[in-house]
Amino acid sequence: MGDDPRRAELAANLAVVEDRIAAACRASDRARSEITLIAVTKTFPAADVRRLADLGVLDVAENRDQEAAAKVDECARLGLGHLRWHFVGQVQTNKARSIASYAHLVHSVDRERLVTALDRGAAAAARQLPCLAQVDLGVQHRNGGDRGGAGLDEVAGVAAHLDAAENLLLAGVMAVAPRQSDSHEAFSRLATVAGELRRTYPDAVVVSAGMSGDLEAAVRNGATHLRVGSALLGWRPPLG
Ligand SMILES: *Cc1c(COP(=O)(O)O)cnc(C)c1O
Repeated sequence: MGDDPRRAELAANLAVVEDRIAAACRASDRARSEITLIAVTKTFPAADVRRLADLGVLDVAENRDQEAAAKVDECARLGLGHLRWHFVGQVQTNKARSIASYAHLVHSVDRERLVTALDRGAAAAARQLPCLAQVDLGVQHRNGGDRGGAGLDEVAGVAAHLDAAENLLLAGVMAVAPRQSDSHEAFSRLATVAGELRRTYPDAVVVSAGMSGDLEAAVRNGATHLRVGSALLGWRPPLG
């Protein structure tokens, strides 16, 4: 263990990310304990999930069901049954049942039909599944947008369905800053949406925002969960 170079690399990356989070917290007068760092491990092996868990990162995110389901199983075999798995990718309705069987928080619920599918999946797994309504903060990519999310006019409907679903819990909101946008401006819009939602649903306190490139802007705008991939794990090939 002492001379595992990959572990050393991950430890160094984690230290840099933690410094960035600490600086952002200081700048906005927030406590580090208000924020959960989630390692987005897509394309990286279960061995890296184990290294990160050894370093204290117990929240892990994936964006494709097939890869996630396999990694969850492998990690359980490695003795990592205590990890919290986050699903952050666009969910095909036919994958909802699988995702509901292992996810601890689904970040990417963006349509009412998906609520129904996840609710059935959670019921089949005899679980209560916390979910976030994903908000599309872009206007320019509404058609053919590749990052998912309910439009600003649709979020309330998705949230109401999540709240009403017997086996799901509305836990808050999630967003990805639109490409080539001012992430601070985008995340401040998300903060407004989150605040409006909390007036109706006081328990919907999660704000999932911020990735490797824009976590500071997310912390500044009230993010409670950061989804960090490349800054922790290194470069990954673009998904085909
Ligand atoms: C891949 C991914 C991330 C992490 O992105 P990085 O830029 O590598 O930090 C965060 N959120 C979602 C939804 C992702 O798909």
